[in-house]
Amino acid sequence: MDKITKEYLTEVKKSDADINASKWQLLFYLKVLKSKGIIRKGKLECVEKKKSDNKIYYFELTDEIEQELETYINDIEKLISNETIPDVLNKPKCKKCAYYEYCYI
Ligand code: SF4
Repeated sequence: MDKITKEYLTEVKKSDADINASKWQLLFYLKVLKSKGIIRKGKLECVEKKKSDNKIYYFELTDEIEQELETYINDIEKLISNETIPDVLNKPKCKKCAYYEYCYI
């Protein structure tokens, strides 16, 4: 969470390479805030090296999205409580994954 105003919670990323993961991260933050009685919309700012490539995405935590988010949270909790570690995917996307070091180093 990088910034919060009366209307938005803003998350800033260096690129939009994995916009879907960034979107769900932001939506999770909105859910946590909502659970504390703080209602905000989400703003995702992708700040590229070339400023002309900067992009801003807007998200809102609807009931439908919150239900979908809940399924992801449950899946993650199951994964964490699992006795066995999932196999490494060995896909091109692994090189850009935030968990690369955990899987390969
Ligand atoms: S590097 Fe990321 S995408 Fe690849 S296996 Fe590990 S967690 Fe999955």
